[in-house]
Amino acid sequence: MIIENFLKDVGGASRVTKLRRDNFKKGSPVPQPGDPIRSLADALHPASMRFIVTEVRDASPTSRTWKMKSADGHIPVFQSGQYVNFSLKIGESVLHRPYSISSAPSDARGDDPFIEVTIRRNRPYFVPDYFFAHVREGEILEGNMPFGTFYYEPLRDSKTVVALAGGSGITPFVSMAKEIAAGGIDADLTILYGSVRHDDIVCGDELAAVSATCPRVKVVHVMSDDPDWTGEKGFINRALIEKYSGEDTTYLFCGPYAMFTFVDKALKELGVSERRFRHDVLGQPADITACPGYPAEAAGRTFRLTVVRGIREDVIEASASESVAVALERAAIPVDTHCRGGECGFCRSQLLSGSIFVSPIGDGRRAMDKELGWFHACSAYPVSDLKIKIPIL
Ligand SMILES: Cc1cc2nc3c(=O)[nH]c(=O)nc-3n(C[C@H](O)[C@H](O)[C@H](O)COP(=O)(O)OP(=O)(O)OC[C@H]3O[C@@H](n4cnc5c(N)ncnc54)[C@H](O)[C@@H]3O)c2cc1C
Repeated sequence: MIIENFLKDVGGASRVTKLRRDNFKKGSPVPQPGDPIRSLADALHPASMRFIVTEVRDASPTSRTWKMKSADGHIPVFQSGQYVNFSLKIGESVLHRPYSISSAPSDARGDDPFIEVTIRRNRPYFVPDYFFAHVREGEILEGNMPFGTFYYEPLRDSKTVVALAGGSGITPFVSMAKEIAAGGIDADLTILYGSVRHDDIVCGDELAAVSATCPRVKVVHVMSDDPDWTGEKGFINRALIEKYSGEDTTYLFCGPYAMFTFVDKALKELGVSERRFRHDVLGQPADITACPGYPAEAAGRTFRLTVVRGIREDVIEASASESVAVALERAAIPVDTHCRGGECGFCRSQLLSGSIFVSPIGDGRRAMDKELGWFHACSAYPVSDLKIKIPIL
């Protein structure tokens, strides 16, 4: 029986081999000029594109909106909630930073297609400082888009959506609100938006304009420290979320890590299933050393980071409080990052020796990667001297 099957296999394999040889003979000796599907995909979603800034305007006293059009033709199709990953040459470093698109997808499909990003600078920051000081009308920016999985998906999400936003986390919801008003998303959206004071609400005027004309969009501002405010006050807590929720609500969160831990707890207490709660935490925790499980003895220290790229080895300094990606950027060693939240894996690198602490919300590694010592540089922090191997760019 075994021998019979073996002979069948051998017979089958030799028939296939003959078929392949015959097909090779029939094939053209001249290489085919290209792969039309690949060429179409590249044209629709270029790996890199240039944007021309056409307008810069204030979106609040601490934030600005940059309107841009494509310098290379069309703007790739995207969903409200997705982001552009800019590549910025600042000094010797090339920095990648994600910014959610705050305009609607329908704005990119009209006669005068454009996208907008809104950047907050409520204290000195590295990249926002650069945007505020240098990126003016006429400037060309490099980047690529769209990225991210944080968008409304009708097959998965319910039609009643409560958005929970803090600070610059409002930008994906500004896009969603505009797209609902344009008829591109069929959902009812209530935005609970936490700000500190009513005189510094990011995109406040745009949100007011959309909610005034579109009954499907409602905006509830919640001020955390504003004695003059007569509306909702304090933090976005369980009672407030319950007050504005409907039946079978999908919750979408976008904001900083500290707010996420608060909101996550409130939704768990309300018994919201994981399926109904999706979140996009903007970047890494402000203080990684305060995260559960962080080895206290590493806090405040500076480590030696040996970086292997092919046959090249560089030794740089890495602070315990900054991710490996930031240490590389500071040292002008190119590193490709997109999500900056440990999810996408563009900055996947190999740990050759030493120990890292991986951000609790940013561990998007595959189980096998964890076992074999791979990590995502944007969400990994040195807790000893390290030797790492990174892709050559
Ligand atoms: C998916 C996503 C969407 C986002 N959307 C928005 C948005 O719509 N609007 C918005 O305002 N923000 C948004 N953000 C946050 C944004 O990407 C930046 O993190 C934020 O603007 C702060 O930028 P930063 O570069 O100063 O600080 P970080 O990105 O936190 O940079 C970390 C540190 O790097 C240091 N650094 C890096 N390179 C160097 C160097 N070469 N020399 C010296 N110092 C260096 C900086 O000093 C800084 O302390 C989003 C984030 C994510 C993940």
